[in-house]
Amino acid sequence: MQERIEIVRGDITQERVDAIVNAANESLLGGGGVDGAIHCAAGPELLAECRGLGGCPTGQAKITKGYQLPAKYIIHTVGPVWHGGGQGEADLLASCHRESLRLAHQHGCETLAFPAISCGVYGYPLSEAARVALETVRAELVNYELPRIVRWVMFDLRTYDAWKSVLGASRS
Ligand code: ADP
Repeated sequence: MQERIEIVRGDITQERVDAIVNAANESLLGGGGVDGAIHCAAGPELLAECRGLGGCPTGQAKITKGYQLPAKYIIHTVGPVWHGGGQGEADLLASCHRESLRLAHQHGCETLAFPAISCGVYGYPLSEAARVALETVRAELVNYELPRIVRWVMFDLRTYDAWKSVLGASRS
C-alpha cells in the first residue's frame, strides 16, 4: 500500500499525471494560491467549463478537463476554512480526499496528484492536515485498484516536511 503514496516538491500544474486536484473555493471560478496557478496554466477554457458547474459545497468535488495542463483532468475540491478544529474541519477535509479519489477512480485515472488542501489561506495546521489527508487516502486505496499512484506535490518545504514526517511515523 505505502508504495502507492508519494510525496514530492514541485508545482502541481506541471505534473504529468492523469488528474490533479485543485484546492478550489465554493464558486469554482478561480482564486489565489494553487487555484490561481491552475487556472492560469490551464487557460481560459477551464473557467468556461467551471461556470457551467454551479459551484461546489465544501467537502465535495467536481471534475473538469485539464485543457493546457499536462494532466488530462482537474478535480476541483473545496477544503474547509480552519476555525480551530471544532467545526467539522477534519471530517470535511477527509471528505475532500475521499470524493477526489472516487472521481479519479471513476474516470480510470492511474495517477493522481494532490496539493495540501486547506493549508494555504484556509489556515489548516500542517501536521493535522497531513494526518487527515494521508490516513484518509490510505484507508480508501484499499478499496480501489485505481489510482495506482497518489502523489502529493508540495510547493514549499514546510508543507513537504510535515507530510514526510507523518508518512515516516506511520511507516515505522
Ligand atoms: P486553500 O485555500 O485550500 O488553503 P491555497 O491555494 O491557499 O488553498 O493553498 C493550498 C496549498 O497549495 C498551500 O500549501 C500552497 O503553498 C500550495 N500551492 C500554491 N501554489 C501551488 C502550486 N503551483 N503547486 C502546488 N502547490 C501549490
